[in-house]
Amino acid sequence: NRLQPAELLIAEDNAEDTTKAREKMQALLGPLGTELCLTGRSARHFNVAEARLLLCEHFKTTSLAGFGCDHLTAGIGAAGALLQYISETQKTSLAHIEKITPIDLAGILMVDDSSRRNLELVQTIIGGGRAGSLLATLDYTTTPMGARLLKRSILFPLRNVEQIEKRLETVAWLVNDQPLCRQLTELLSSVYDLERLNSRIVLQSANARDLTALRVSLAQLPHLQDALQNAGGLLADIAANLDDLADLHDLLERSIRDDAPVGLREGKLIRSGYNDELDELVSILQDGRSLIASLEAKERQKSGIANLKIGFNRVFGYYLEVSKAQLDKVPDTYIRKQTLANAERYITEELKAFESKVLGAEEKRLALEYQLFSEIRQQIAEQSSRILNTAAHIARIDFFSCLARTALLHNYTRPEVNDGDAIIISEGRHPVIEKSLPAGRFVPNDVVLNQTDQEVMIITGPNMAGKSTILRQTALIVLMAQMGSFVPAGSAVIGAVDRIFTRVGAMDDLRKAQSTFMVEMNETANILNNATERSLVILDEIGRGTSTYDGLSIAWAVAEDLVTKNGKGVKTLFATHYHELTDLSRLFERVKNFNIAVREWNDSIIFLHKLLPGGTSRSYGIQVAALAGVPQRVIKRAGAILKNIESGEFTRQGSPRIAGPQPVSAAPSQLELFASPPHPVVQKLTELQPDLLSPLEALQLLFQLKEQANDQ
Ligand code: ADP
Repeated sequence: NRLQPAELLIAEDNAEDTTKAREKMQALLGPLGTELCLTGRSARHFNVAEARLLLCEHFKTTSLAGFGCDHLTAGIGAAGALLQYISETQKTSLAHIEKITPIDLAGILMVDDSSRRNLELVQTIIGGGRAGSLLATLDYTTTPMGARLLKRSILFPLRNVEQIEKRLETVAWLVNDQPLCRQLTELLSSVYDLERLNSRIVLQSANARDLTALRVSLAQLPHLQDALQNAGGLLADIAANLDDLADLHDLLERSIRDDAPVGLREGKLIRSGYNDELDELVSILQDGRSLIASLEAKERQKSGIANLKIGFNRVFGYYLEVSKAQLDKVPDTYIRKQTLANAERYITEELKAFESKVLGAEEKRLALEYQLFSEIRQQIAEQSSRILNTAAHIARIDFFSCLARTALLHNYTRPEVNDGDAIIISEGRHPVIEKSLPAGRFVPNDVVLNQTDQEVMIITGPNMAGKSTILRQTALIVLMAQMGSFVPAGSAVIGAVDRIFTRVGAMDDLRKAQSTFMVEMNETANILNNATERSLVILDEIGRGTSTYDGLSIAWAVAEDLVTKNGKGVKTLFATHYHELTDLSRLFERVKNFNIAVREWNDSIIFLHKLLPGGTSRSYGIQVAALAGVPQRVIKRAGAILKNIESGEFTRQGSPRIAGPQPVSAAPSQLELFASPPHPVVQKLTELQPDLLSPLEALQLLFQLKEQANDQ
């Protein structure tokens, strides 16, 4: 899902396999599964031994150890099947596939599929467009290579603090040297998509314009090297390792014409001075005109025919034309070719010789130009690994320049990323929402999460207050910091996290045929099973998809589990409408309550979007209902009921009733979760029917009950 492939190969050996595999893939991939092209391939192609052999043969190695993937058997099977498939379908040399690189999951900050969607990293949830995503907000890249690297970095942020800090240092260098940043952007704007050009060259589909684009791009490389000469951070490494491909540039500059056409068979591809034979042919063709003129003059003079002229047509080639009136002057050496109404056309031996020279030259020239072009293209293709290497460096220069420009444009600051356990964000902003509001309108907020006194933040507040915004912005700031970007905050210290989990909003995944609640619980299960003490968990409402008591119970138990998990707990931001959850802070020191400020003003609510310490017991639901025109009597009644419910919230000792003792029975009913089992005396009292008792029986029962009460 993270890679979003266009096509997947599946191992299958019969029709039944196919159907099953397809169903499985579609169930796994959800929406993506229905759009994906699934191609069945013989299971043999996935055989590890066969695949390994094929890969080693292709890379001309004896093992795959050099690529760091000799032990990855499933991966080798898949890679072998893939190589087999493309060699069958592409029908060209695959020599440009020069290495295989395993993705090191331990080195990246994992963002699972639903979190990637929820956080709208590369596309929005609604509509699935790019606009409105984090990628669109950060993307100030200049080249397609830089744009692809930026996207990859958003999908695969880092975990290693040292690597992250190196990237940050590089961005900082460019932020502090704005002229350099501008210069790099300027130079990069003349660099075309080297990776794409390289593929076209290797696959022999590149035309002269592609080679010109390559030449123009390569011309920037020495300037880039110069510009980066004294730069710091990773830029110094890049400059030192950047191959400026001067030999290829020189070759292209000498050989390919600027005005070359798209077609390869029409000539005009190769510069003069590149090849002697071609130059000679071209000069014959160019001289043709003056040769004709002098031949014409000579024949006129010799024959005395003043209006004799030389012409050309496709059928007869070159000819001498003499008008009817002058026919008596035609010499014997002229051979008649064609008769027109008022003229005759002739050829001579000399004219014929001229014709074969000129026409042959044209043909030869076209063939020679094509041949030279193919040779040049082949010569460049042989250097494809160098081109790709340079392309990778260009991508990095572009990536860092982009992050520096974004930081300057949006006023981001450099975060400190360390191995500590705290996330301290002051004046944090949501990068995407901030951009959609008029400048200065976004209200920044502070968020602190650590493992000592504030590990779980319970955030309450009415709809539209900005709960989701704070949750998402925190996850985005952490992710941005770990991809090496500056962040939208006054300051930020980020203890690097290993995974970001989100459970946000309620979206029915109809194509997966799962209910909202099922999706919600799937995501919750994933979080509870996989979050570690180094993870960041974002929970935006839990348990809304079922009855209030069910939902509240689940929400409470989930929060309780997160704060106690592995003895250390998991850093969690929990937005909820269940203000009962604020009572968790009475039981757990590391749980803290926050609310988002709202001001009541002339019967309406003003959202201040400011996160404040302390819980709120008000959802303002009733107030909103009043604003919506629900009759006063209903509003009043609802208020009274709310008061009744709230008055039962605490025990006489002041602890929240909701978190009564842990139930003893293995499978308690829904009601029992909220109360202890009834006392036997109470049980008996509820069952008895006083109308049916005689006074004596009543008295006896009273003694009995008294006795039973004493026993307990
Ligand atoms: P909630 O989750 O509490 O229902 P949201 O986070 O969805 O609320 O926020 C609702 C809207 O309020 C956002 O779309 C945004 O326009 C605005 N908003 C939220 N937080 C802020 C903020 N800090 N500053 C300015 N506007 C905000």
